[in-house]
Amino acid sequence: MSAKVEVKDLVKTYGTNEVLKGIDLTVQENEVVVIIGPSGSGKSTLLRTLNKLEEPTSGLVTVDGVNIADSKADLNHVRENIGMVFQHFNLFNNLTVGQNIVLAPVELKKATKEQAYQQAQELLATVGLSDKIGATVQSLSGGQQQRVAIARALAMNPDIMLFDEPTSALDPEMVGDVLAVMKDLAKKGMTMIVVTHEMGFAKEVADRVVFVDDGRIQEEGTPQQVFDHPQNARLQEFLNKVL
Ligand code: ADP
Ligand code: MG
Repeated sequence: MSAKVEVKDLVKTYGTNEVLKGIDLTVQENEVVVIIGPSGSGKSTLLRTLNKLEEPTSGLVTVDGVNIADSKADLNHVRENIGMVFQHFNLFNNLTVGQNIVLAPVELKKATKEQAYQQAQELLATVGLSDKIGATVQSLSGGQQQRVAIARALAMNPDIMLFDEPTSALDPEMVGDVLAVMKDLAKKGMTMIVVTHEMGFAKEVADRVVFVDDGRIQEEGTPQQVFDHPQNARLQEFLNKVL
């Protein structure tokens, strides 16, 4: 095993608002880490710092051995290696499903158009949307759009996937299909960091659960430790509300 992501004493402030107050987190290759915690605790900020959508105020963020705060770090390379899936899909609504998926690989010259469409077709099959390559984004349900967003992220062949509440904007009946795709991905050995309120998914799929509150990791452990034997009072209170 080797560390894919290493975060050391990460601090992030917005003005006078200290949002991350010293986060230490190591994620090993093939590991699935689920981050839970109340709204506003800094979960999204933490994820966004990992692929340089946010700059750390201080501390160290290392991805695949590269310190991403280093101005010499190749930002494109960092982003190519980390796929991210957001709560609100962030697809291009004026493009077809296929066009969304091939856009980055073709633009960054990772593949010819033909290769990229071939791969898009394969990826759509793995997310259960084989027949949707020519469909408009707007004709899809939210759950289908989120599966396209996952396929789009995978088209760059990332070795780490970040998910920021991927099912929070979905109607309940769509949640299962998206979680099933994520579970498949975990089974295939993808290194994943997932922010979610789906505690069933966390129990079943996570190797480790991390509880963030007030900009700090308050507790972490196996799903069993965190859900069945929580130590921290805030975690106990949080679990009482969500379980
Ligand atoms: P979570 O994802 O756990 O709900 P966030 O990381 O989104 O929490 O936000 C943590 C805190 O940081 C909140 O108080 C939020 O208002 C603040 N925050 C997040 N992004 C920004 C930003 N770009 N500018 C200013 N404040 C922000
Ligand atoms: Mg968030």
